[in-house]
Amino acid sequence: MTTDNTIFDLIEKERNRQLHGLELIASENFVSSQVMAAAGSVLTNKYAEGLPGKRYYGGCEVVDQIEQTTIDRVKELFGAAWANVQPHSGAQANAAVMLGVLNPGDTILGFDLSHGGHLTHGSSVNYSGKLYRPTFYGVERETGQINYDHIQIIAQKEKPKLIICGASAYSRDIDFARFRQIADSVNALLMADISHPSGLIAKELLNNPIPHCHIVTSTTHKTLRGPRGGIILMGKDFENPMGQKTPKGDLKMMSAVLDGAVFPGTQGGPLEHIIAAKGVAFGEALSNNFKTYGMQVIKNASAMANAFMNYGYHIVSGGTSNHCMLIDLRSKGISGKEAENILVKADITVNKNMVPFDDKSPFTTSGIRVGTAALTTRGLKEKDMEHIVSLINEVLINRTQESAIISVKKQVNSMMEELPLFTW
Ligand SMILES: *Cc1c(COP(=O)(O)O)cnc(C)c1O
Repeated sequence: MTTDNTIFDLIEKERNRQLHGLELIASENFVSSQVMAAAGSVLTNKYAEGLPGKRYYGGCEVVDQIEQTTIDRVKELFGAAWANVQPHSGAQANAAVMLGVLNPGDTILGFDLSHGGHLTHGSSVNYSGKLYRPTFYGVERETGQINYDHIQIIAQKEKPKLIICGASAYSRDIDFARFRQIADSVNALLMADISHPSGLIAKELLNNPIPHCHIVTSTTHKTLRGPRGGIILMGKDFENPMGQKTPKGDLKMMSAVLDGAVFPGTQGGPLEHIIAAKGVAFGEALSNNFKTYGMQVIKNASAMANAFMNYGYHIVSGGTSNHCMLIDLRSKGISGKEAENILVKADITVNKNMVPFDDKSPFTTSGIRVGTAALTTRGLKEKDMEHIVSLINEVLINRTQESAIISVKKQVNSMMEELPLFTW
């Protein structure tokens, strides 16, 4: 067989891009070589529709053990009573939950996309906003934070069947117990989507939704540092604190509903190579090293937020309690799109993002979102965050001067040269 140089040369290019640039995209991370090895393994050849021990294909003895190990590890990691590790992505996990617990036309209440929520929480361009009746809560203009009393009022008015808590660009912790009170008061199901902070939640560095939320979904590739994929979890306290059964019955019944909503409801065969890679990543996340990593992610984010504020940048909500922050660039007279495009010329990768009460379009935006999960995996510390913010500021201030941008790019490349990745 001849080597496919076209594709492999491009993969090599991408590998170099990842090696030499500063990765500040809050939803990205770098997996270990073991996670990559599992994801690129012979398991990609296997069909295994169904669940361990209950498959529609022969030859599943080995993948059954792999998937069961992955399930056991993720339950231990989050203190969950039930898990499904088959969703191909975070969006697929959310689609399965909604298919399982809702009927078309039912009302859902989610975090507004333009305030930091996710497309799958009811956006009009997404299935969640087309199949269901979406309603939203957002952050307060003055504080940049959610106001639970306000969410209670919206819930009472809209009577949602499902409330979704969790976001893609919210830098504060979430009070899941308070959300549960709101859900119980209107007899709604409560789902937490912890796609972004799940790695930090796993190490008890942020509130854990498992004791409070009926259902929890997450991606596995953000702070959790696994392969691209999704998971669905439930805790044992599926019944509410008043002893009342939820609108959907008990845990056993609900787990059958959700398993069926993943397959055959929204997916076909599971990706056993990715499930194995999730298993490896969950094993890594169970270790003490991962707690040290998570603590450093948070310390780095605080240091970065402080550095930005020292340069006069406005951080939505006034800082961060997790791995990410949303920077409102309106006071600096530059759009999110412009900032993203200029920074990438210096090998600094960020993403443009709407800020709450944005007056620009989702394509232009007034802000950028940054996070420290990937940089922390590269081994960078608080002092480096201050340096990085000074480089970002230099690029944004001198955005019309090619030479200034090139000089920053050189500094970025030499900083990253010292921090090897993908060592086998
Ligand atoms: C990233 C994210 C998702 C979607 O994950 P994909 O794997 O990209 O489908 C869903 N919900 C939230 C809150 C996210 O941040």
